[in-house]
Amino acid sequence: MTGPDRERTIAVRLDEVTKRFGELTALDSVTLQLEAGTMLALLGPSGCGKTTALRLIAGFERPDAGVVEVSGRRVASPTAMVPPERRRVGLVFQDLALFPHLSVRDNVAYGIRRDPDHAVRTGELLELVGLSGDGGRMPHELSGGMQQRVALARALAPRPALLLLDEPFSSLDQAMRTQLRAEVRQILRDARQSAVFVTHDQGEALTVADTVAVMTRGKVLQTAPPELIYAEPASPYVATFVGVANLVKAEVRDGVASTRLGRVTLIGPGDRRPEGHALCLLRPEHFGIEEAPDGPASSDSWEVIDRRFSGSEILLEVRASDGERLWVEAGSRVRHLGLGHRVAVSLRPVETVAFGRRGVQPMADASPSGAPKGTSASTTMTRRP
Ligand code: ADP
Ligand code: MG
Repeated sequence: MTGPDRERTIAVRLDEVTKRFGELTALDSVTLQLEAGTMLALLGPSGCGKTTALRLIAGFERPDAGVVEVSGRRVASPTAMVPPERRRVGLVFQDLALFPHLSVRDNVAYGIRRDPDHAVRTGELLELVGLSGDGGRMPHELSGGMQQRVALARALAPRPALLLLDEPFSSLDQAMRTQLRAEVRQILRDARQSAVFVTHDQGEALTVADTVAVMTRGKVLQTAPPELIYAEPASPYVATFVGVANLVKAEVRDGVASTRLGRVTLIGPGDRRPEGHALCLLRPEHFGIEEAPDGPASSDSWEVIDRRFSGSEILLEVRASDGERLWVEAGSRVRHLGLGHRVAVSLRPVETVAFGRRGVQPMADASPSGAPKGTSASTTMTRRP
């Protein structure tokens, strides 16, 4: 691709970027790319290198190896460094750092105060973030959510090519977080603003971003749209980090996994498809669950041992007589079941992924009777807070 084309289409690119702090490798050969006008979430546990990645993009750190490009322009490599103020990158950090002595309007205008049209631009931005009537107020008079919107407007004022947001909602309470992240997503989408945002909250990453990069210990494990991260995680780590995951023993042959609950067709890239002993990913919504008929507990019934209520859904943890446990989603007919109830669990006709397990004993029974035959349905997604 030629220079100007790339500038229009690629907002930011990291190519095998490594950053060390002494002995510690904070980023280990990270490669990422973001299309212009879209949002990327860096998702991972505390200490995995998310903030370091943003600081490298912003220009506050210099990579030990690799290249950073913003809008097709090389801004950092081990030998060249464009200073932060010349990268056209805007920042919203965890601690908002609004100027306490400046009004809302003056906070927003701060970065563009020398522009002749700054008053018009500031008015537009206040409208964009829903604070048109609040320009004269002082930061301490605002709620946390309003302060966050001021910080966003201030970062957008100089029309950055790329906006970086570091855990922007983490200081807010849960209700405010949910509302504000939906608002911010809409604001950035309306503005067609390219953005990289950092979070350790999987629900936040899945709901806000167009693309999610899952990180651990300085490495990116998978970069994909949220639906794909959930339905086709690249590793057991990603599967369990995003959503609720049951990893069930399976024997795989020709792209079909046989589990104790039946067969499932495997999807995902062929190079990731195991043969032989494997662990099959089954999400709670992949199961059907019914109350077991009265009478002596049958050997293939499951006992409810835990419940998790999240408002819109109930998950039940069930245990088989051999000790295996699963989290299953309870449909309306079994929502009332409590601990100690016995249930029958079946597998819906789903498509999912499996991970190879080297050195694991084969299953006792690789082909239970009554395995569902249908394989056409897609994986459904209900874990979307
Ligand atoms: P995250 O934002 O994902 O929580 P960070 O990028 O802040 O993680 O940090 C990644 C690792 O690098 C952590 O182990 C952290 O302690 C370390 N680290 C970050 N900045 C520095 C620094 N300036 N000096 C030394 N170690 C650092
Ligand atoms: Mg951080």
